[in-house]
Amino acid sequence: MPTSSDILVTLSSAGVTSTGSKGLKRGILKQMTRSKTPQQIREAKRKRAVTMAKKIARLQAKYRCAYCGRGEPLYRTHGSHIFAESKNKNMSADVDNILCLCASHHAVMPGRTPPKEFNWHSYPAESITWFQDNYPSLWQALKERRWKKYKVNWDKKIEELKITLKQLEV
Ligand SMILES: [Zn+2]
Repeated sequence: MPTSSDILVTLSSAGVTSTGSKGLKRGILKQMTRSKTPQQIREAKRKRAVTMAKKIARLQAKYRCAYCGRGEPLYRTHGSHIFAESKNKNMSADVDNILCLCASHHAVMPGRTPPKEFNWHSYPAESITWFQDNYPSLWQALKERRWKKYKVNWDKKIEELKITLKQLEV
């Protein structure tokens, strides 16, 4: 017959450290909410794929800004989505939907003044016009992909990105 102290030992080894019934309830609740829903797991996988795709896009661009040509190590570069991530999750880890931009042409810190000539997030309309002019066929392809209905297998996507990353890093 397990005693209450045995139960406490078991719970504390499971990460539940509070004692007393209130503490126990809180601890168990914490354990339960820690387990992720299938949607959260899917979203975590998608985000992992996005991080990998951004790295690939920057590697392929040799860490140079698509707008000004400046690059690392002097100018930090970012992977910037062409079609925004939040509204286009399916294509959020597509390498061709990510542009390598230097920090000053990508986004500015809140409160800072963006550079006058070009800034992806400060002047979205101008940025898209520039993109359409410079990458007409890619613009067309992305636009068409955007309306397609499909479900991404994120595990498969991560595996594909892993292979591409390996090839680029050698
Ligand atoms: Zn730049």
